[in-house]
Amino acid sequence: MKVALFPGSFDPFHNGHMEIVERASVLFDKVVVAAMRNPQKASALFSLEERQAMIESVVEHLPNVEIVSLSSLVVDLAKTIGATVIIRGLRAVSDFENELQMAQMNHQLSGIDTVFIPTSSEYSFVASRLLREVASYGGSVAGLVPKLINDAIEAKFS
Ligand code: ADP
Repeated sequence: MKVALFPGSFDPFHNGHMEIVERASVLFDKVVVAAMRNPQKASALFSLEERQAMIESVVEHLPNVEIVSLSSLVVDLAKTIGATVIIRGLRAVSDFENELQMAQMNHQLSGIDTVFIPTSSEYSFVASRLLREVASYGGSVAGLVPKLINDAIEAKFS
């Protein structure tokens, strides 16, 4: 059974992430989405537990997708759950340099390969950081995130 790990901050999980999960779920027998703490991103909007619960609700239609949340090295988690592939989404060339470096480091550490899935042009501008910024100033991000997550974002800033 081919298990893939899709790690990210997912703060918040948006339609660009959803597209990658849906496509990965067709390519692999099982996809584990891991909401992880990113030490480079100081202030989180949602706790890891909140992120895990929200993602669980919005991927209910994908029976081979599981959600976990924790703070550990991605490759350690991959080994623990038996994942042989790490999935990352690519939005633009600007993502590539950093992602390539991370993929090479993860391969060096564990021998686990990273598979990149390119986003559709519809979602290539969507980034969690930008969504947090827009929402913090009262802008609407409806249409860019699943409804349940939009409701949670609105509740955070109300
Ligand atoms: P990070 O893991 O860098 O904190 P995110 O949580 O924002 O980043 O993203 C998790 C994964 O989803 C990364 O592989 C990222 O490239 C990918 N991703 C983010 N936004 C999009 C998008 N709009 N379309 C496709 N993939 C995306």
